[in-house]
This record gives sequence, structure tokens and C-alpha cells, in this order.
Amino acid sequence: MGADCLFCRIVAGEIPATIVKETASTLAFRDIGPKAPVHVLVIPKEHYADVATLGQGDPALAGEVLATAAAVAEDEGLTGDGFRLMFNTGPYGGQEVFHVHAHLLGGAPLGPMLV
Ligand code: 5GP
Repeated sequence: MGADCLFCRIVAGEIPATIVKETASTLAFRDIGPKAPVHVLVIPKEHYADVATLGQGDPALAGEVLATAAAVAEDEGLTGDGFRLMFNTGPYGGQEVFHVHAHLLGGAPLGPMLV
């Protein structure tokens, strides 16, 4: 991917983002349009379109995304009251950026489901 992918461009430093955590294989940055007091996107640096292709293509990397999300949740003080971690997938799932990303949401009661 690269030039055509917004999140690959954030990984490359071509588009600015507020980065909250970086590992060798993952990046976490604040969502530009937060839907909760804490709204962080967690991505693998390597391009996978969605969580289905990531989970089947590189399960270890998928686990690293989850580990980074858990670490950010702890850093942001979310582990006591809880948080939501979700992957919108495909058009029916409401996915708009086709570089897999976990939404980490918290900091307030979120209700039964975000749509
Ligand atoms: P999706 O609907 O694909 O699951 O979520 C895409 C998310 O990316 C949205 O919550 C949107 O606000 C966020 N987003 C879109 N463009 C940018 C950007 O340029 N920078 C950041 N930090 N977030 C973005």
C-alpha cells in the first residue's frame, strides 16, 4: 500500500497524528474526530485492510495490536471503569479507512453499543 493509504502515510510520518504509543510493529494515535473522552486508534504498521485479513494473515501481529491497545488503556487510566475495543469491518461494519484499526474508546459510560 503506502501512497494511497491514509494510515500508512501516518506510519510513514507523512501525515501528522497525535501518537500515544509506538512499538516495533504497532502505532497508537488519537482519533481526529473523537467519539468518547478517550478515542485512540491502534494499528499494525504493516498494511492489512481489515481485522479479518490481519487475523488470518498474521495472528501474532493481531495479538500485538491487542497488547498495544491494552497498554494504552492502562496508560489512559481506563482499566478500572472499563473501555470498548472494536474493529469496524467492511461497508456494513461502517469501516471508512481500509487499514485495520482498533478503536479504543473510554473515559465515560458508552452505553450498550455505538453505531
Ligand atoms: P472507521 O470508520 O474506518 O472504523 O474509522 C476511521 C476513523 O479514522 C474515524 O473514527 C475517523 O475519525 C478517523 N480518521 C480519519 N481520518 C483521520 C486522520 O487523518 N487522522 C486521525 N488521527 N484519524 C482519522
